[in-house]
Amino acid sequence: MIKWKMTWAWTLPCLTEADVESGVQKAVELGFNAMEWSQAQSKFPTLFTALCKKAGIESYYCVNPSSKARQKFLDPEYALQENPHCGGEPPSANDIGKVISRKQPGCCFVQPDCLENTKKTMAKAFQDGFDGIAFDFFGYDNFHGCYCPLCNELREKYITSHPGMERQEADHRFSEDMIVKFHVDAVAYARSIKADAKTTCHIYPSFYPNLLYGNRLPVDYCGQTVAWFFKPHWPLEKIKKYSDIVVREEALYHPNSKGSPFIGFYCKDKFKDDVRSAERIREEIQIIKSSGAQGIQMVEMGHILADPGVSKVIAQELGGKPEAFSK
Ligand SMILES: [Zn+2]
Repeated sequence: MIKWKMTWAWTLPCLTEADVESGVQKAVELGFNAMEWSQAQSKFPTLFTALCKKAGIESYYCVNPSSKARQKFLDPEYALQENPHCGGEPPSANDIGKVISRKQPGCCFVQPDCLENTKKTMAKAFQDGFDGIAFDFFGYDNFHGCYCPLCNELREKYITSHPGMERQEADHRFSEDMIVKFHVDAVAYARSIKADAKTTCHIYPSFYPNLLYGNRLPVDYCGQTVAWFFKPHWPLEKIKKYSDIVVREEALYHPNSKGSPFIGFYCKDKFKDDVRSAERIREEIQIIKSSGAQGIQMVEMGHILADPGVSKVIAQELGGKPEAFSK
């Protein structure tokens, strides 16, 4: 049974206190009991956390990599420019190195200042009453590694200390280990300043050498994508395969971690053609339920609310208040 149900909210209106109140109420009506809401965090942090507490849902502060240094890519890959799938899984090995669509590369989270900035951000979030931290964007824009001077130096040390390992294999393992190390350090710090701190993440951008590495992160709930936002929509068979692996192997490295399949859903504005039907969303949630998952993440709440049919199905499947979404 799914006990932990989280939504990420990026496009909900958030200009007034009434907006925040309404957003939290809608999350409850959809059946969620955990919520990340980036805009409410920056504009009304203490109101947001107070309303979540009152409503009986957990509040999560979103943390993205922050560093003076940007990720660096091997030249030919960066020249390939943007990936049409906006950071979803690269369709084939030929697409590795096509960086995700952004104005500039993401920050290099291997840099020491990234961990220091994250610690400060988390400390402030807990002061503001947040129950937990939601890590996002701790991955490589080119799907496999950063080649900044610091990463190059550390990578060479890793390769030298693993004689006998093929160079590309060592390169990939090093890159994966750096993602893991960041989360290990950040989660340990969060728990050191707030013993009952909750942690979650969204595995993003995809890490092509090992797509389902999320169970290596010591977070309470690991959001691993099983259904991506954009066309071509992932086949139901793939959603089932990924959900089963994410749940079956959730505690392989950390006994208390729960694999939490992530469903991405967009349906409005420039993404209106990426809409999926309400019944399709029901099927996806039911697949996740039948995998035995104890956690789920659904994104994005502003898009979900823009589609009353999808809202109603989610409320039905997650134990919310479907009558709130009847026309
Ligand atoms: Zn780097």
